[in-house]
Amino acid sequence: MSVQHVLVINCGSSSLKFAVIDASSGDELLSGLAERLHNDDATLKYKFVGNKEQNALPAGADHKIAIDTLVTLIHQYDLAKDLIAVGHRVVHGGEQFTGSQVITPDVLDVITQTAQLAPLHNPANLTGIQAAQAAFPELVQVAVFDTAFHQSMPKHAFLYALPYSLYKEHGVRRYGFHGTSHHYVSTQAVETLGLAADNHRLITAHLGNGCSVCAIKNGASVDTSMGLTPLEGVVMGTRSGDIDPGLFDYLTSQLGYSVAEVNTMLNQQSGLLGISELSNDCRTIEEAYVEGHEQATLALDIFCYRLAKQIAAYLVPLKGLDALVFTGGIGENSDIIRAKVLAHLSFLGCQIDEQRNLAARFGKSGVITSETSLITTMVVPTNEEWMICQDAARLAKGA
Ligand code: AMP
Repeated sequence: MSVQHVLVINCGSSSLKFAVIDASSGDELLSGLAERLHNDDATLKYKFVGNKEQNALPAGADHKIAIDTLVTLIHQYDLAKDLIAVGHRVVHGGEQFTGSQVITPDVLDVITQTAQLAPLHNPANLTGIQAAQAAFPELVQVAVFDTAFHQSMPKHAFLYALPYSLYKEHGVRRYGFHGTSHHYVSTQAVETLGLAADNHRLITAHLGNGCSVCAIKNGASVDTSMGLTPLEGVVMGTRSGDIDPGLFDYLTSQLGYSVAEVNTMLNQQSGLLGISELSNDCRTIEEAYVEGHEQATLALDIFCYRLAKQIAAYLVPLKGLDALVFTGGIGENSDIIRAKVLAHLSFLGCQIDEQRNLAARFGKSGVITSETSLITTMVVPTNEEWMICQDAARLAKGA
């Protein structure tokens, strides 16, 4: 069989993550990340298999320059000839897409319309798609949506208790995000733990800069903590998660904040950063916590308490639990947060194994609870790029 590679592109509002992946083995040949695009200190770091990480990007580079640089790298390392598809992460697919799609003009139209619901994300995703179409016009382009996995949620889980017309006329409902990650780690957990594909109940906690929890029954998402936007749910790095909607009126009518200021506050100045007044980066918070920093300790306490409450809530739709799974930069690395969350769940018979908890870090997966724990908890490093690669390769082959 000939070599088949997929270019995976994840275009964020100020970043571009990319990888050229072998669709049969999952090996990454070229991978990289451009950050702080549109700023003077924009960077692009990349690694070609077997080589050291390198930097390339002029100061002030934007998405277009970053993608041009990526295309140059692909030609420089002679990777274009084996590409069969480009897979794009697209954050919001609305209700239209329950799975990945070959990008046609109609699909592009829907992604453009859905940008109303994800103004920070979908326009950046569209930039990536258009640049990749221009650079590789002969390749199949595939969109893999963060929302698609959650389209299996029942109506009682995805509707807000708002006037029904808002849903019918404007699509106001809970959509959920991080679907590709929840899907990937749940399938890995089912396989590792030897659970039946058509008979399992899992809770997955994706804890990165954004954080969400998902209840999964027999391979399908039945509830998730993010909603219409990625702001709802548990506490995150800079996002508040759930708040009293009455706060909005108080801040605007009584304290004089503008709508834009409230939006910025809830999305960029809250969460771990807002409480600690130190950082949104979990590593910095943990270092300060170890040194006894009061607000860093409070930030971790609130983060873990809210997360444990969300996990416990999902015992309702699942009516039991076969395993709890941690993933994302925090979930994969923070033994401190995992231990604190599981301590809240000890009344359910959840028992952490400290050695296992320390062992499952820095890219290593594994069970972190004891043999006698009533809730099996494991760490599974996420790999959204691999999911996107597989879907793009499958659709490119017409399967
Ligand atoms: P992600 O968005 O998945 O890349 O995750 C980013 C988050 O993971 C940031 O809050 C990081 O501080 C956190 N993180 C990464 N490595 C560690 C670590 N070793 N310990 C604690 N948190 C970490």
